[in-house]
Amino acid sequence: MSKPIAYSVKAYSAGSAKSPLSATAISRRQPTESDVQIEIRYCGVCHSDLHFVRNEWGFTQYPAVPGHEIIGRVTAIGSAVKRFKVGDTVGVGCLVDSCRTCPDCRSGLEQFCASMVMTYGSMDKHLGTPTLGGYSQGIVVTEDFVLRIPANLNAAAAAPLLCAGITTYSPLRRWKVGPGQKVGIVGLGGLGHMGVKFARAFGAHVVLFTTSPGKADDARRLGAHEVVLSKDEAQMAAQAGSFDFILDTVSAVLDLNAYLNLLKRDGNLVLVGAPEKPMAVAAFPLIMRRRSLSGSLIGGLPETQEMLDFCGQHNITCDIEMIRMDQINEAYERMLKSDVKYRFVIDMTSLK
Ligand SMILES: [Zn+2]
Ligand SMILES: [Zn+2]
Repeated sequence: MSKPIAYSVKAYSAGSAKSPLSATAISRRQPTESDVQIEIRYCGVCHSDLHFVRNEWGFTQYPAVPGHEIIGRVTAIGSAVKRFKVGDTVGVGCLVDSCRTCPDCRSGLEQFCASMVMTYGSMDKHLGTPTLGGYSQGIVVTEDFVLRIPANLNAAAAAPLLCAGITTYSPLRRWKVGPGQKVGIVGLGGLGHMGVKFARAFGAHVVLFTTSPGKADDARRLGAHEVVLSKDEAQMAAQAGSFDFILDTVSAVLDLNAYLNLLKRDGNLVLVGAPEKPMAVAAFPLIMRRRSLSGSLIGGLPETQEMLDFCGQHNITCDIEMIRMDQINEAYERMLKSDVKYRFVIDMTSLK
């Protein structure tokens, strides 16, 4: 394949693990026949962006441009593009390509493809350079990895659905959370607040676990039926053996055994947060009631579209705080202190 011609767009990048993000210019490929060119309007700020920029996972190449909760407007399409036209509002999440042929891809589970191409931090198949994310004015993505955004949703508040939304929607769907079930959501951050909204929309009885008493009112406003302070042993003991499903959205080391003990027979505890250190799991809480401990990673393209359509039907978006591009470094510091309700979204028109 000959290398397609590139063009330049403005972006915000980091030059090293220690440097703040600052204005720069990056290259995007000219759309090929199957590509969609997108002018980015909004980009959500995920905790992964910060991990990546600071090389906390050890694979970052610099200059690094994060951002994988992208909403924008189609400005050009390749000749073979069928599902989109110029002017459409579209989204791009954590993935921009995959092999398309492995069993995972054929099952619509592209997030598990060994050759998946992440929106940032992978190798671009066309340019042969690292992929660069959504903190930029534009992006070019193959049609199959572009998502339709329901017209009734606020576009800015829909941006975090592309990562925070699908990360919580997918496990709740896979483990068939629904009416008559008691469901726990651990943590009320960017992920947790979406977990509460989805579990409620699916008809479950929703219990939020938090270490912050100050979050109780907000949790109820977002849809929780009950709030349990996880540091309060009496409150935790009162919930023993009563849950069908618990979703752990916290990226810190937790006492998993304490949560396993809250599950009924055959109940599931699913992790979507990723603490750096291993967590201890005792065998007894698993054995005694045949409980399961599992993990889940974002969602494939078909399920991400299903999630967006569900959000359109039920008018679900994220609770966001809009920032300008030049506020991103300050936003990272606030995100580290959990000082955001519940997701920062960058107004990309502020990148001039
Ligand atoms: Zn993310
Ligand atoms: Zn594949």
